[in-house]
Amino acid sequence: MTSFDFAPLLCLLALALALAFRRHRAALLLASTTLAVAALTLPPEQIAGSRAASASVMFLPWFWLLALLLPEPPLRSRRMLAFAVLLGLAAWLCVMAPEHVWRGFEHVLPLGRLAARPGRIALVLSLLACAIAAAQWAWQRRPLDAALALALLAASFGWIQLAGLELRHWLLVSAAATGLGVVYSSWRLAFLDALTGLPNRRALDETLARLSGDYALAMVDVDHFKQFNDKYGHDAGDRVLVAVARSLAQTSAAHAFRFGGEEFCLLFRRPELARQACEDARLAIENLRVALPRKPAAKADKAAAKPARKSETTVQVTASIGVAPRNPQRRAASEVLKAADQCLYKAKGKGRNQVVATA
Ligand code: GH3
Ligand code: MG
Ligand code: MG
Repeated sequence: MTSFDFAPLLCLLALALALAFRRHRAALLLASTTLAVAALTLPPEQIAGSRAASASVMFLPWFWLLALLLPEPPLRSRRMLAFAVLLGLAAWLCVMAPEHVWRGFEHVLPLGRLAARPGRIALVLSLLACAIAAAQWAWQRRPLDAALALALLAASFGWIQLAGLELRHWLLVSAAATGLGVVYSSWRLAFLDALTGLPNRRALDETLARLSGDYALAMVDVDHFKQFNDKYGHDAGDRVLVAVARSLAQTSAAHAFRFGGEEFCLLFRRPELARQACEDARLAIENLRVALPRKPAAKADKAAAKPARKSETTVQVTASIGVAPRNPQRRAASEVLKAADQCLYKAKGKGRNQVVATA
């Protein structure tokens, strides 16, 4: 028994992860890969074992292409059901089809007798699937799409047995890459803020729970942000939050987190640097100019048949910051946070756009 006999099991594990984290496109890819790996693991004296290689060539790249072209389907959907039925049909054919029917299929898929080297066509189709996943990543920047592109690239290597590895081994690498992509994208969902990309409140709580020694926390709150949203709209507010987050992420000696809403938190492992760094961060936010998307010119302009003019707006916000270090009077992170929040409250009371620190 070789260690690769565990291959279908490992693929199943990746499939279970994808289903558990509701990454259904990845699950569809993994389901087809798992079936192929299982068939390729069977001894050649079994029918499915003897047909496994040609079944992989015939069906697998098409299933990958189909899975990638389907928009992320809900679990209980016709698309998922149709895919499962097609997979079941392919597996059933591989195991049960009489020899003459199977031979017929071998001549038809992919591209029938025209294909002198079916493996090459499978390679091209797999690379096409890889390119689609890469394009989807470039378009939407979802990390899972990048993982799928890498997984499909690895799978493509199987058709040419790159580095002397069999198709089954490359498919295993592909399943592992997909599984890792599923775990990584789910980790991002759990710990990174979707709008700003900063670590979120959960990440802050976990970081603080592990922290020991000296540190300081700063609470940063954008001033009059409700009024800003009312004046410029929620989308403009989102743009500003992204810009503020980027600016805060560059604060020296600090880790920035989005605390929630228009509030951020800075963690300083060297408390003596916190006050000045917060002053710099406040100034950087005050100096930010955020360009808002151009709006079409007013109706009056159109009525007067003037050439369409576009109005451009750049906006500016300020933020108030409260800073508190950990000290013998406040050892728990919740106490340090509370002290920083009280300083923030004072900064608001003193007219906003300022830093208030406590010893
Ligand atoms: P203050 O100076 O006292 O902090 O006043 P404020 O208006 O900033 O504070 P308030 O708590 O009254 O309002 C916070 C606003 O932040 C209300 C909410 O609409 C806005 N906000 C929270 N999260 C988001 C977000 O993700 N996007 C946008 N655009 N606005 C948000
Ligand atoms: Mg607030
Ligand atoms: Mg505010």
